[in-house]
Amino acid sequence: MSFEKLGLIKPLLGAIGELGYKHPTTIQKRAIPLVLAKSDIFATAQTGTGKTAAFALPILQRLRNTEATENRAIRAVILSPTRELSIQIFDDITGFSKHMSLSCAVLVGGKDIATQQRELKKGIDIIIATPGRFLEHVESGLDISHIEIFVLDEADRMLDMGFAKEIRKVHPLLPKRHQTLLFSATYSDKVRKLSKLVLTKPAFIETSKKNSTVDAINQIAYMVDTERKAELLAYLIGSRNYPQVLVFTRTKASADTLVLELKKDGLKCGIIHGDKTQANRLKTLTQFKEGEIKVLVATDIASRGLDIENLPYVINYELPAVAEDYVHRVGRTGRAGRNGEAISLLDIYEKYDVKEIEKLIGMKIEQQTVEGFEPDPTIRRKDQDTFKAKSEHKKAEVKHVRKPAKTPFVKPVSKKKRKTTKRD
Ligand code: AMP
Repeated sequence: MSFEKLGLIKPLLGAIGELGYKHPTTIQKRAIPLVLAKSDIFATAQTGTGKTAAFALPILQRLRNTEATENRAIRAVILSPTRELSIQIFDDITGFSKHMSLSCAVLVGGKDIATQQRELKKGIDIIIATPGRFLEHVESGLDISHIEIFVLDEADRMLDMGFAKEIRKVHPLLPKRHQTLLFSATYSDKVRKLSKLVLTKPAFIETSKKNSTVDAINQIAYMVDTERKAELLAYLIGSRNYPQVLVFTRTKASADTLVLELKKDGLKCGIIHGDKTQANRLKTLTQFKEGEIKVLVATDIASRGLDIENLPYVINYELPAVAEDYVHRVGRTGRAGRNGEAISLLDIYEKYDVKEIEKLIGMKIEQQTVEGFEPDPTIRRKDQDTFKAKSEHKKAEVKHVRKPAKTPFVKPVSKKKRKTTKRD
């Protein structure tokens, strides 16, 4: 199957050809004709499957007849959960539309609203925005009465981040006849409920097993004691010559602590979490993409949407608080048909969390130890009675949607000295 067969017009075929896209991915094959036919769609698509082009290409084709005059109406809005993802979609659309005269703007928080309003006056066809900032613009008079296409990208993530209110407020203000495209990596009850509100007779596209992880990703877990995780991580990166790794922690505090530890080992690290400014986050991401930084430590804020070419390794320094986030974290590797490896460093307290993840992804994650880093069996005995309680405590924390614990949850339980035995 070729992109031509999907009915795409020449300017788009030219642009994607220049980007090196040869054949459409599964989601593209299925979504492009439906979007062109003006159908609502509900697509569960994993990250890295090419879903941005799946909605962006047909949207550009549908809007191609817009006259390039000033003050023309906004005809498509794409809402996405994070600033980074919005900017990434904007970059993708800019690339796809390089041979067309359509204009798009990105509206995200952290930027001056008046500057954004001035930009909108130039005549914008497509807006990519985070829900909060989009609602601010709508409430200050942005005309959305000509919108033909409304996209909710990573809808599950938007709901997890508490954006249901904004979406519910914006939706009734859209013109009655518009097309809605809903993309979600997971298939939660919350997403299903939202889909009932925003979609009309949608076509369903399921490109993968519910909540499954990308097949190309090799998933493995190394059992290790809590207080030796940083040491094991540095050891894996060094001894196995990992060119670049994206490392996830559960909290901002443990991300900060980990970066300090890794720097002691001489590793060039960057950090992305909610306390960093937008400018700082983008700068770090660019440095990582350009290879100036070897290790990028991030909290789950970075786990969705980030598209980093050729990222072969994702490491879960701590398992995520919500099992679904595991799918999104590991989806940062193995993108667009490449192989990837997702490594989880598991301590005894994460024993129950890993079971939940396995239940969600429908497969077992192989557990191994690295020579010289085997967990201390005495710790296992000492904490037998308490680790289940701690795991329960973790889940209770999660109910307060993603508010990280003030102190790192797992305290070191032993002062065991570093081993010097030969390692693999
Ligand atoms: P996405 O799931 O939209 O974030 O896309 C993941 C990656 O796949 C991005 O780097 C895209 O540029 C790339 N990509 C999307 N569609 C194709 C395609 N048909 N052929 C090759 N690469 C693609």
